[in-house]
Formats: sequence, structure tokens, C-alpha cells
Amino acid sequence: MRNLDVRHGLLQAVRGVSFDIAEGEVLALVGANGAGKTTLLRSIAGAHLPAAGQVFLGGQDVTAVPSHKRIAMGIALVPEGRRLFSQMTVEENLLLGKTPGRKGDWTIERIFDAFPNLKPRRRAKTGHLSGGEQQATAIGRALMSNPDLLLLDEVSLGLSPLVVDRVYVQLQALLSSGTTIVLVEQDLGRAMSVASRVICMLEGRVVLDRPAASVTRDEITKAYFGLHHRADGDRSAS
Ligand code: ATP
Repeated sequence: MRNLDVRHGLLQAVRGVSFDIAEGEVLALVGANGAGKTTLLRSIAGAHLPAAGQVFLGGQDVTAVPSHKRIAMGIALVPEGRRLFSQMTVEENLLLGKTPGRKGDWTIERIFDAFPNLKPRRRAKTGHLSGGEQQATAIGRALMSNPDLLLLDEVSLGLSPLVVDRVYVQLQALLSSGTTIVLVEQDLGRAMSVASRVICMLEGRVVLDRPAASVTRDEITKAYFGLHHRADGDRSAS
């Protein structure tokens, strides 16, 4: 991303954001409510077009490419709130994720291997599933497109801590599989434990961008609340 500005009408939710995501990286995007994480993720996926700036994929400028074409290019989004078709079965929702032209290892059976709790529910309507099962279906649906870049928006939202633990155990194999992942996560500890890199956003801007192994929880917390040193040396407490 280069100098990305993204707006909701008059409100500028993302301000001048630039960063690269390397192949195989697991990048955790953290920040307070309203920091712009979801908006940024949606503009990477092409679901929300930026007001200014550019998005590149493998060197190609995809800024004007609509979301359905970005899926075919290898970018898959698991949206906040899961957005499943509740009157359709698990299997039908997964099949909807299949994307012509995307080759790879992900099949329905492999998704059931990765999320074994889904297998006995394969013919259940997703509206009847538990939150954890719905989240697994939403992740599975994105994987069916065999993405090169997987964008996960708050997989923990609305789930009990026990269920979040279970979803993360199942995600572990995926997180270490070499798939490039951007993960929006409210839980700092969890974000730091799975990510190779952490970016913190504050009021639409990137205020911290560090390898996960070399940043402390305290440093992220300070960035999260705006108690950080800006690049120009000013101490900000916004
Ligand atoms: P959260 O953790 O609450 O999802 P976030 O960091 O993902 O927060 P965004 O959802 O991207 O932040 O929101 C960034 C800003 O844009 C907020 O001020 C929010 O109120 C605003 N916003 C988000 N979606 C819309 C919308 N559809 N219409 C108008 N404003 C919006």
C-alpha cells in the first residue's frame, strides 16, 4: 500500500498508510475501536475503494480492481461478522468460496480436516451453527479460493474465550503453513503470539510497525493509546 487514504463520506478512516507485506508473513493489525483496521482490510480486498493512494499485488497496481477480481488474483477476506448465507448449509457456503482459475490444495475435505468440528455439521444450515462453527465456516470459505493473501478480520469477535482458543488451535496449522496472512485482532497477547510482525493503527495512521519478536506488549499498548514517540520526535498523548 502506498499513501492510502480511505473515506466513509466525510470521515477519513485511513490516513496516508504505506507498508509492504512480504510473502509468508503473518501480520497482526491492532488498534483501538475505530482506528481504521477493518476499513484498511476492506480496501486491500477491494471491498472499499480508496480516495487516494495505491494498492499493489506482486508489483501490479490493483487499486481500481474490484473485489471479485481480487479474489481471482489471490486475495481473500474473512469479514468481520462472518457474513455467511444462513439459509445455506456449511458445505454450500464452502462451495461458494470456490474460485475459478485458483489452483491449490484446499478442498472441502481438507477444510474438514483443518476444522474437524465442521465435518458432522456439513449439511446443517449455517444459521443453526454455534459462533465457533460459523467462524470456522467463514475461514474455510475464504480458503476455498486458495488465497495467496488471507485477510482475517476479528476472528474472535463474539466468541467465548474457550471457543476462541479452539479456533486459534485450528488456525495454528494455517498460520505456520506459509500462507501470507493479515490478522486484525483485539487481543494483543494473542496477536503477538501468532504474528511475525505487528502493525498498530491509531486514528487511521500506522503508529507502530515492528517484528513481533522485537516489540514488547508495553510498546504496543503505548502506541495503541497514542502514548508513543512519533517519527518527528514529538511525544504524542492524543
Ligand atoms: P473496530 O475494531 O471497531 O472494527 P476498526 O479499527 O476496524 O474498529 P473501522 O471499522 O475501520 O475501525 O472504522 C474506522 C472509522 O470509520 C471509525 O470512525 C468508524 O466509525 C468509521 N466507519 C466505519 N465504517 C463506516 C461506515 N460504513 N460509514 C461511516 N463511517 C464508518
